[in-house]
Amino acid sequence: MGTKLKKYRILIVDDSDLQRAVYRRRVLYPDDKNEYIFEILEAKTGEEAKNIIKKYHPDLVILDFNLPDTRGTEIIKWMQNSGYEDIQVILVSSIDSHEVAAQGLNLGAEDFVKIPYDPEEMRARVKAHLRLKRIIDHVKRSRDKMFKLAQIDELTGIFNRRFLFEKLNDLFTKHTNEKKPLSILMVDIDDFKHVNDTYGHQVGDEVLRTVSKFLRNGIRKFDIVGRYGGEEFLIIAPGTTKDRAIRLGNRLREKVKFHTFKTEKGSFRVTISAGIAELLTDKPRDVNDFVKIADMRLYRAKSAGKDRVIAQ
Ligand code: GH3
Ligand code: MG
Ligand code: MG
Repeated sequence: MGTKLKKYRILIVDDSDLQRAVYRRRVLYPDDKNEYIFEILEAKTGEEAKNIIKKYHPDLVILDFNLPDTRGTEIIKWMQNSGYEDIQVILVSSIDSHEVAAQGLNLGAEDFVKIPYDPEEMRARVKAHLRLKRIIDHVKRSRDKMFKLAQIDELTGIFNRRFLFEKLNDLFTKHTNEKKPLSILMVDIDDFKHVNDTYGHQVGDEVLRTVSKFLRNGIRKFDIVGRYGGEEFLIIAPGTTKDRAIRLGNRLREKVKFHTFKTEKGSFRVTISAGIAELLTDKPRDVNDFVKIADMRLYRAKSAGKDRVIAQ
């Protein structure tokens, strides 16, 4: 977190021009140490506030309880229900009411300040909440990163085996219940060992990344592709009949086949083989059986000469 410049976006929601000027000049004035930089946004009504929050997602909102069109507490409620609960809120009110304070805090505000307030104290509060916001953002980013790492294959950037099985389990149940087609394609690069042996492991890695890219770009929005193992990929295609899966497999096969890899040791091409299984027509007992059927057909594609798609 260090000492680097911290830029924060702050929204002031108050219909009084005077109050907003006070916030700007006496609370959120520029820091002489340049420790904090405030980007200040202003709203006079609840409606304006919502629009600005949606558009700019500020770090902190200084929110007056009495607004021309609504109450500050209503805005807090809306924020909590609309995915803005990470924004820090200081509810401000000229009504000296414990009820307003308790209601605001209970609804999700981080703080309550009564008018008149001491500007220096208010400034200190703003900074304290921004320090917290920084930690919250940091934790959120780490969590997102970990979450992503847990389901993404590092080398290729597509989903990993664990995620594939998780998804396949869900989709298997869902499509069985709804009696809807679900296809899987087990895809394997042909003679990949030869690529490694001839051009080196790094070129091999590059081939894996390129093939992954072709697969990812070649599927539809709701299809899922992941790395199943070394040079093996699994595509899950919900709502896709066997015929369509065959067409998809062949399209991908051609896409890979006509790409030339250029290296210092010369150019080469690779091919892929695929085994397909479909839920309604193959009637697998469970997910493992489902994958096994696709795997068996992949094996048959290999024995039959590779560079082909087999679905029976
Ligand atoms: P087939 O056509 O029957 O599929 O033959 P193949 O050579 O593709 O299959 P085989 O299973 O014999 O060899 C797979 C090779 O893939 C062996 C292994 O070293 C290599 N491999 C597995 N993971 C990686 C990886 O992450 N990077 C690289 N470069 N190679 C890998
Ligand atoms: Mg192979
Ligand atoms: Mg293999």
